This record gives sequence, structure tokens and C-alpha cells, in this order.
Amino acid sequence: MIASTIISTIVALGRPNTLTIMSSTSDQNLTCDIILVVGEDQVRISASSPLLCMASKPFSKMLGPNFKEGQPNDGSTGKEIPLPADKPSAIELMCNIIHHRIHETSHTPAAIEIHDLAIVSDKYDCIRATALAARAWIHPNSARDTNELGFFLISASIFALPEAFYKVSMSLVINHQGSYKVLEDVPGFIERLGWETIRKLASLTHPRWQAKNYIFLVQLEEKRNSVRQEINKELVLNLNGVSCSWKCDWSAQQLRRWFEHLQAVDLLPVEGSERLSNVISRAECSAALDSDALSSQCKSARYHRGLDTGSRNHSLTRVMNSSGLCLSDCILIT
Ligand SMILES: [Zn+2]
Repeated sequence: MIASTIISTIVALGRPNTLTIMSSTSDQNLTCDIILVVGEDQVRISASSPLLCMASKPFSKMLGPNFKEGQPNDGSTGKEIPLPADKPSAIELMCNIIHHRIHETSHTPAAIEIHDLAIVSDKYDCIRATALAARAWIHPNSARDTNELGFFLISASIFALPEAFYKVSMSLVINHQGSYKVLEDVPGFIERLGWETIRKLASLTHPRWQAKNYIFLVQLEEKRNSVRQEINKELVLNLNGVSCSWKCDWSAQQLRRWFEHLQAVDLLPVEGSERLSNVISRAECSAALDSDALSSQCKSARYHRGLDTGSRNHSLTRVMNSSGLCLSDCILIT
């Protein structure tokens, strides 16, 4: 009989290029009655048809009595369901989630594995069953590079996870240096977040949208520019804290010292080529100016108010936290 749980060890059958995936442990409460034969290598994954049918309408139809996949075979083993176009590791992950076996997964799935899970979950219409696990895994801090952030964005859009989408796009805006065109190299990125969006927009609005290739990349670039402008504004224009009721020279000197300081740390202005996360951390680390040193000549010295470093840091944090893109605004979900 087929092992009653999902994948943990791989045992070769006699046939070439054919593997059967069986569990090293058994679970009396879960009977796996079918075998999914996945990919070109025909990787065999045992599964429970009632659970697959509950999670997925396509599987429910596939395993129903009117389809050949649903017909009983000769009886000695479970029914074999060929899934030649799918990626075995993605089907394995999907089955582990649907069979409540995710704890048997040996590692937190990498960005591309979560992406592959999104693709098969979308294909087999079981997003609702797998999205919760995906939500726990999609986090910008676990992406090693821009490429993986791209995979996370695609996954967040397929799973319709606005919060994850926002956080990942925020990381792209704050941490990516250079052109966003590198995201074109992420398989499926332009199709899902470029042309797909354009096609939907084109059907709704003016045809000029068709000329706006790679619209999501444009949105990322525009967002990064606007965040940079906000930082410049906070550093250079938002200086209301400096004041003296006696109108002495103290305020002017304070401001001069502040601008000299910005020059010294290369933030006057914030340059377009620099990673914004570096800019923000440098701006937040900017030392508070010594407000007493220049106050000795003024009768109102005790009322002098220097630059409010805490308030500026708070504003910079606000700017950073508002630098993500909204899934619903950016991408039209079908
Ligand atoms: Zn004064």
C-alpha cells in the first residue's frame, strides 16, 4: 500500500526516471489514495484525494467520476494522476500544506520556492488553502537580493497579500540601488507586474496605456524619487525648530552649522545614485548641534531652541514606512 503520509524520503522504483516519494513515518488518520506523477522526471507524490478535492476545484473535477483521472485503476496501488507540466518541488510543497504536513518541510522555503508554490496554487485554484503559509514566509528580510524581492512581489500579488506586497515593495524602494530594470530578469515579473497590468489598464482606459511598458518598474522609480524628495525636504526645509525671539545671529549660525554638517556627511543634497536606506541611517545618525556654544551673546539665550533631532528622525521613519506600493493601487487584481 501507499505510505499514508507525504514526502520525506525518496525511494527509486524499478522504472527509469521514476521516483516514488514516500514518508518515513506513517499516520493512521490520513490515507493517501492517489499518486501524483509530476514533471518530466515523473516524480511520484502520494496524496489524499479527499483533501486535494476539498482544497482545489480543478483537482475535484480531475478526480471526479466523469474524468479518466477519476477512474479506478487495477487496484493494487493508488490512482496515478499525471501532472507532466508541473514542478515536483512546488507540488510537494502545495501537498504538504494541504495535508497539514508543513512541519515536515525541512527548511523555510526560499523565495523561488514560494514563487513556484504561488504558480501551482494559482493553477489548481487552491490559493485560499496555501496563502496563509505563504504569508508567513514572504518577508523582505529573508530575501538575499533584488531578484528574490522580485519573486516575493510576484508571489504576494498572486496570493493577494497586500501587506506583504507593501513591505516587499518598500524594501525595493529603500534598499535597491540602480535601475529597476534588473527586475526584468526575474522570470514572469514583467508578464505579471508589467504587461498583465498594462493589458488590464488598456482595456479600461485610454489606449495610450499600451505605450507605458513596464509600468510597475516606472511606479517603483517614481516612488523612490518621491521618497528621496521627502528626505531632502526633511533635511533642508523642515528647520522650524531653530528660533530666537531676540532675533540674534544664533539662528543663522545654527542653520549654517547644520548645512555644513549635511555637506560633511554627503547629504546636501541626497544624491540620486545612493541607496536610500544608507541615506536614512546616515541622516538619523546626524549629531545634534551644540546649541549652547553660540548663545553667550544673546539676552534670550535661554529661550534658544535648536534643531529637533528627535522630531526629524521621527519624520524620516514616517517617510520610510510610507514608501511601499499598495497592491490594490498598483496592480489590478482579477
Ligand atoms: Zn538669540
